Amino acid sequence: MDENLLKKHIKEVPDFPKPGISFKDITPLLSQVELYPGIIESLAKPWIGKVDMVVGIESRGFLFGMGLAQFLKVPFVPIRKKGKLPRKTISQSYDLEYGSATIEIHHEDIKPGTRVLIHDDLLATGGTAIAASLLLKKAEAITSGFSFIVDLEFLKATAKLQEYASSHSLVQY
Ligand code: AMP
Repeated sequence: MDENLLKKHIKEVPDFPKPGISFKDITPLLSQVELYPGIIESLAKPWIGKVDMVVGIESRGFLFGMGLAQFLKVPFVPIRKKGKLPRKTISQSYDLEYGSATIEIHHEDIKPGTRVLIHDDLLATGGTAIAASLLLKKAEAITSGFSFIVDLEFLKATAKLQEYASSHSLVQY
């Protein structure tokens, strides 16, 4: 998938949600109906036959994560912020710039030994993706890879993720 074509439909919003952050808004991609199948195929290509499940991180990780799972013909399971999931969960906390956050997944949906692909819209510092991997480890699942639409390459998070699994993205800034 042509990176420049994707970049045309990712809107950069300066100083959101706070001064100094250039927010990469991927939602305009969703309005380009004809692009979705190609995006899904490009996201899926490296992982065909290599994963048993896709987990998507709330909430923008759901938008393409579900399509990715369908393409790979494997289950999709959501990772959500604390307190949203109704059944028994396992959770993982991680540090943010200010304070901390907790993510959760339904425990019974993850079987030990499952090869999981973690998907989110964007990789920044890698903190969220690593927390997702640690969460899956608690369920004795295996992180087989990380998948993103966007990688903020200047933050060098792929090197950090490498310790857990390989990662793949469609667009780099
Ligand atoms: P991190 O844990 O630092 O890798 O941050 C990744 C999460 O924060 C993802 O769920 C992104 O949606 C969101 N995020 C962080 N930075 C940005 C940004 N510059 N533009 C859009 N989303 C971002």
